[in-house]
Amino acid sequence: MTSYKICLLPGDGIGPEIIAEGVKVLDAVGSKHGVTFEYTEAAIGGCAIDEYGTALPESTLEAAKAADAVLLAAVGGPKWDTTDSEKPRPEQGLLGIRKGLELYTNLRPVQIFQALSSASTLRPEVIDGVDLMMVRELTGGVYFGLRERFYDEPGAGVDGAPGQRAYDTMEYREYEIDRIARQAFEAARKRRNKVTSVDKANVLESSRLWREVIHAIHDADYPDVELEDILVDNCAMQLITRPADFDVMVTENMFGDILSDEAAQITGSLGMLASASLGDGTALYEPSHGSAPDIAGRGIANPLAQILSVEMMLRYSFNMQEAANDVRASVTSVLDAGWRTGDIADAATPKDKIVGTVAMGDLVVESL
Ligand code: NAD
Repeated sequence: MTSYKICLLPGDGIGPEIIAEGVKVLDAVGSKHGVTFEYTEAAIGGCAIDEYGTALPESTLEAAKAADAVLLAAVGGPKWDTTDSEKPRPEQGLLGIRKGLELYTNLRPVQIFQALSSASTLRPEVIDGVDLMMVRELTGGVYFGLRERFYDEPGAGVDGAPGQRAYDTMEYREYEIDRIARQAFEAARKRRNKVTSVDKANVLESSRLWREVIHAIHDADYPDVELEDILVDNCAMQLITRPADFDVMVTENMFGDILSDEAAQITGSLGMLASASLGDGTALYEPSHGSAPDIAGRGIANPLAQILSVEMMLRYSFNMQEAANDVRASVTSVLDAGWRTGDIADAATPKDKIVGTVAMGDLVVESL
């Protein structure tokens, strides 16, 4: 029997609650499709800071590298919030594992579940047919560039007094743009054959390089794919005025961070969106939302984004397309039957159809 090793990283807040539901679904998929999943668990984020003094212990990175795929829930919480750059912060765990596993591509599908279409703040005719894939560069750009803070800099304070100065650097190398561009064009060929590349080439040098490289690869190897450029500020507007027109959208790290949250909101339900981070080795799957500390430990978190990240794992790491389709169909049928966690319930949802985290996981397993 085929067996896959999964490294589980529950993290903080609602993380442990939702990842348990992801595991439950994986086990159900395993028995249905004749595959076994073996799990190892490791610490990341705030809980790792508490236990090891760092958000990404070496042992966690090793466990992740040794696995066939990594399932992450979420990290962070007010306990570890700090502006002191000397102190460890939970999100360093995320940045570190992306860098450590060389996960240079983040895929975030944005699709509307018909049963939840009223959750969007956009009009039904605007979101009708939305099916886009955000492809975000994940290991370069301003989040990984040189940064520095200067204290008591002459003239940097108010009225010419000494004060503070800080800078961050957005930097891209040609090969970093090359490999993400190829992922985007390949994804487009499996979808509607269109790529929208987002940059700020009217201002930023790194964006001018981005645009040149994207076009060179397109012209040489993917002339069959439709390619359009869009400036990031315009893109922010177009994304909510004509979201159904986009197929694959590719962009650098920080623009992608912001636009993928905006794209997520088109659906109106953050608790439903999954993401995959891919490189050339072990890939990582996680919900798009954070650790929701405001509802942690209450058994009411929505586990569906985590479960849909399991769907992506089956699709991208194990090429189990049928099993992945099963998971999506089960989630769809549970929603169509009217079951909701609190975050996706609306005023019309009957009270007895509102369920907690564990019950929602059970419903998906039952449907499987
Ligand atoms: P968040 O996504 O955690 O929460 C935003 C809102 O959505 C909250 O009201 C929360 O209750 C709700 N929500 C999110 N996921 C939900 C779910 N599955 N079910 C029901 N409701 C859900 O974002 P935030 O509040 O800005 O951040 C909280 C913490 O999470 C911060 O420490 C932040 O740094 C961290 N964070 C982590 C990640 C990650 O691990 N990838 C991503 C974003 C934020």
